Amino acid sequence: MTKLSVVVPCYNEEAVIDSFDLEIRKVLDSLPVEYEVCYVDDGSRDGTLSKLRKLAEVNPEQTRYVSFSRNFGKEAGMLAGLREATGDAVVIMDADLQHPPELIGKMLDLYGLGHDQIIARRNREGDKKVRSALSSLYYRAVNRWVDVELTDGVGDFRMLSRPAVDALLSLQEYNRFSKGLFSWIGFDTITFDYQNAQREAGETKWKFGSLLNYAMDGLISFNNRPLRLAIWMGAALTAVGALYTLWIIIQALTTGVTTPGYVTLVAIIVGLGGVQMSMLGLIGEYIGRIYYETKRRPHFLVKESHGVDVDAK
Ligand code: UDP
Ligand code: MG
Repeated sequence: MTKLSVVVPCYNEEAVIDSFDLEIRKVLDSLPVEYEVCYVDDGSRDGTLSKLRKLAEVNPEQTRYVSFSRNFGKEAGMLAGLREATGDAVVIMDADLQHPPELIGKMLDLYGLGHDQIIARRNREGDKKVRSALSSLYYRAVNRWVDVELTDGVGDFRMLSRPAVDALLSLQEYNRFSKGLFSWIGFDTITFDYQNAQREAGETKWKFGSLLNYAMDGLISFNNRPLRLAIWMGAALTAVGALYTLWIIIQALTTGVTTPGYVTLVAIIVGLGGVQMSMLGLIGEYIGRIYYETKRRPHFLVKESHGVDVDAK
């Protein structure tokens, strides 16, 4: 019989965690598998941890949890959960019931057919119009630039086989952009669609600003193609500059010296200044990443756990 681990990163989820646990157990009990639910408390500042303690008391065998010393972000939460998990297959899902637990049955069927990554892709019905338009625009842009394929609507909700989990755990980088990592590891992948649900209770942790930052991460986490853009842009501008100079010289020789436009000069200086600044920022982003990677700090610190020793791995 297979053992299934369900990994659930939670940050300030006291409002939904009990109903989540109830729902997930209802589903898992009905399936022909052994299971464990691996919670990760990502440094919540509300009662999430004490609720997890209670859940572990009620179901000591099938509940594991780790609690971080502070908020380390969902990426760190998922990593801890994956290390925590001992199952032959692992499902990653949100605590807010936006990922319908009943889909696990379908995932398990597909897992039985030999797939390693079974992805549930949500449609964007019920999302704010602007947000879904921006996302699809973003995915179109980003897929031109990064090596890995990122798909709109595909999030972290998925089932992974043990080999896929081990592959993910072998990636040691500090800046983890899971959407890309999932795609990077490859393996036999299958995707199915589901109807997007609204959050049961509590509120989303994503602000517009953090979404923008996340978008930037996606663009530069996977290769140095944006740096190449800087090279091409520089070369193009140099060519334009050379041609313009040539034109002025020819004009001066044929029609005599003309007074060049002051506005043109300012526009060029400001324009080029802008290009240089943003390219410098781009290079800085890569250097910043190198800086973080070289420190080799742990992805998270655990202050309390039940049934696991995640640091040991
Ligand atoms: N989450 C987390 N750490 C964070 C932010 C979020 O572990 O710093 C968890 C959160 O508790 C939830 C999941 O990640 O289980 C998705 O978060 P949320 O529902 O806020 O994102 P959305 O569904 O709005 O994209
Ligand atoms: Mg959510």
